[in-house]
Amino acid sequence: MVFDDDDHAGKPAPDFQPIPMAAAEDAVRTLIRWAGDDPDREGLHDTPGRVARAYREYFKGYEEDPGLHLSRTFAEVGGYDEIVILRDIPFQSHCEHHMAPIIGKAHIAYLPRNRVVGISKLARVLQGFAKRLQVQERLTAEVADCIQEHLDPVGVAVVIEASHACMSARGVMTAGVTMTTSRMMGVFRDDERSRRECLTLMGRN
Ligand SMILES: [Zn+2]
Repeated sequence: MVFDDDDHAGKPAPDFQPIPMAAAEDAVRTLIRWAGDDPDREGLHDTPGRVARAYREYFKGYEEDPGLHLSRTFAEVGGYDEIVILRDIPFQSHCEHHMAPIIGKAHIAYLPRNRVVGISKLARVLQGFAKRLQVQERLTAEVADCIQEHLDPVGVAVVIEASHACMSARGVMTAGVTMTTSRMMGVFRDDERSRRECLTLMGRN
């Protein structure tokens, strides 16, 4: 997949054409050779096929519009006007710089205006954006923007903590370091008390 410029970041390029699986397998064979091993030895024989299939799974977010998960909303909330929060949602993504795993958890909160969604849908939005080539900052922003756009809530907060294999397994080799990013919108950005309440519910302070 080739991105001309950052307008397409996190989305398939407009002229994206599916490529045959055999071409993906050939690319994996090339990488095995590049690593210094022999793709024809017995132990590696089925590896290109497995890696190609794994890539379909790692990057299946390109096949969906995560916002669709938020299209079915419920207006009948019995007067509920407090924060809805989903904590410690595990996710895996891949960094767009090294295609190395990003492993972490997300906390997602919103203060409904008059519509709520089924709680599992928030996690599905996260997965839809995570299963693409990402940077953590953009993943955080995309999840928050998507909820803002589809639910028009009073506030949205997304906090993501993750470790990056490109840091822990190569380069500076700093195992155990996690990076935290957040995006606060609406009342969670503008009102200090709401922001504090949200962060407390997230276990962040
Ligand atoms: Zn990286």
